[in-house]
Amino acid sequence: MDCNRFFVLMRHEEEKFNVMGAKIVSNNGKKTLHGVHAPHFKNTTELVPEVMPVPEKVYISLHQHMGAPCEPLVKKGDTVKVGQLIGDTSAFMSAKTHSSVSGTVEAITTMTTSMGGTDQYVVIKTDGLQEVSEEVKPPVVTNYQEFLTAVKNSGLVGLGGAGFPTFVKFNLKDLNMVDTLVINAAECEPYITTDYRTCMDKTKELLAGARAIAKYLELKDIYIGIEDNKPKAIELLEKETKDDPAFHIVSMKASYPKGAEKVIVYETTGRVIKEGQLPFQAGVIVSNVTSVAFLGEYLETGMPLVTRTLTIDGSAIANPKNVVAPIGAMFEDIVNFCGGYKEEPVKMLMGGPMMGITIYTDNLPMVKNNNAMLAFGAEQAKVYEETACIRCGRCVRACPMSLMPAAIETAYKLKKEDELKALKVNLCIECGCCSYVCPAHRQLVVTNKMAKRMIAPKK
Ligand code: SF4
Ligand code: SF4
Repeated sequence: MDCNRFFVLMRHEEEKFNVMGAKIVSNNGKKTLHGVHAPHFKNTTELVPEVMPVPEKVYISLHQHMGAPCEPLVKKGDTVKVGQLIGDTSAFMSAKTHSSVSGTVEAITTMTTSMGGTDQYVVIKTDGLQEVSEEVKPPVVTNYQEFLTAVKNSGLVGLGGAGFPTFVKFNLKDLNMVDTLVINAAECEPYITTDYRTCMDKTKELLAGARAIAKYLELKDIYIGIEDNKPKAIELLEKETKDDPAFHIVSMKASYPKGAEKVIVYETTGRVIKEGQLPFQAGVIVSNVTSVAFLGEYLETGMPLVTRTLTIDGSAIANPKNVVAPIGAMFEDIVNFCGGYKEEPVKMLMGGPMMGITIYTDNLPMVKNNNAMLAFGAEQAKVYEETACIRCGRCVRACPMSLMPAAIETAYKLKKEDELKALKVNLCIECGCCSYVCPAHRQLVVTNKMAKRMIAPKK
């Protein structure tokens, strides 16, 4: 379930500002991909992340990443410390799981996930001491293989929201395939400011992480793509990298979805990731800015991924904040640290309003790739009725992938799988721009998701 009804609210806000919705935007005269100008609502921009108190219990999922879940390495009654490995697997596509707290394992149990499925969780009753595990030591890294091992041991997954195991992304058959690192600091989703805070508060770690990736993957150029609505961060990054010719800070015209992988690669390097290709096939490694900063910190300290900074915002939140929370903390506990709700939350989202996932309770534990939790009251959560398509073409003009969402919707309803394939619905990045601009409030992105499933190879 996504958050289409929000697109209407946000578009109305946009119209208040008299900004056109869908159009081709220009970045310093350079033609760029389509998209929309959504209002930014970056209310927490200047709020330095606050570390929340350790909750009474954490619920650490053994499947916080794309790929195979981990097997538990602890059992009920075991004591654990911060940074201790508590879940692992021999599967290639996976990421290790570490304890974010010190305490006692209360249970290994199956719980419902935010996506509606089920996963195994390690439930830990905390002791409040936050004792650090003896396993936590800075890794020794002198070559590519040792770098890969370190990345694997860190438990890092893409922190921009994808949850792709970073070790897998860096594991290349041939280093000659890539020559460029693109660091995604666009943060184009409204409300979310955690990547901005990384640029401002963890600049040293970010540059150290970027240099390590470039060194061990033998990359020549490092592009940091950042929207021009973050002038302080752009100034800081330009100042800190001015003596290093490998770095290129690219200020991109703020528009959504500048952070989409294909979009940011094109905007920063001018390279096109073709249909069916992955970034490395265009010679590029793409990494989220907070992931890179974490890596810089991990190589220095050896502390694996056990905390996450989230933006907690929305009209129902009493005191919006950026919060550093232990992995596995309940959203309910994190919201309570922000003063709780000032009105009944009618709509809650994990992530931003464009691509976030609706959650029906805050009684869910956060996972590694959560970068925000938003909660809105009744006024913002109004549902607008769909009306008939008026063939205005706004959805087509907005689509960064140059798709035809209205035609896809028709083909889906008629169950025309061949037509859906011909319309390339598989290229849809589910950014929501089409739904956002549609004056008929059509649930286009939801239809696209279902259409992709319809034509996916049957298992
Ligand atoms: S069709 Fe897909 S890629 Fe295009 S605007 Fe809609 S959600 Fe985004
Ligand atoms: S689906 Fe919406 S945006 Fe697209 S052509 Fe129809 S009315 Fe216009």
